[in-house]
Amino acid sequence: MVLARQAQEKQRKSFAQRERREIKVRKEKLKSRADHIADTQRAFNAWIRERDAGQPCISCGTTADVQYCAGHYRTTAAAPELRFEPLNVHLQCNRNCNMGKSGNLLGYRPRLIEKIGLAAVEWLEGPHEPKKYTIDELKALTALYWAKTKELKGRAA
Ligand SMILES: [Zn+2]
Repeated sequence: MVLARQAQEKQRKSFAQRERREIKVRKEKLKSRADHIADTQRAFNAWIRERDAGQPCISCGTTADVQYCAGHYRTTAAAPELRFEPLNVHLQCNRNCNMGKSGNLLGYRPRLIEKIGLAAVEWLEGPHEPKKYTIDELKALTALYWAKTKELKGRAA
């Protein structure tokens, strides 16, 4: 009796597992370009947070124990081709600068010049070729940035 019930339970679990896997595959297939871009942005931003961990906010210089995020210098709306450009994205305090002052660009620029140099900032501010990623490229970027993030996290631990 017990064995039969255990077998049944095992079967039910593997069925549920298979179903979850199938849903995941189906969801992945239904993803739009925008969904893939959002996936890559999540991975890229996580990597930025690890890369800059312990550094002050790029815009106001705070090192307070607040929430930090990855803040774009050229916004993704203004310069979508720079959304995954490492020079364009730096650790920023979330509430005061990223949300509160919509990026606090006034404070961002001088610290960015200190960090990456005037020539690189001027390059960011200049014109750029539009970038058109394929879905496969986006998937590869997502995997790459999660791997890089994991690597940095492993080093810190
Ligand atoms: Zn700040």
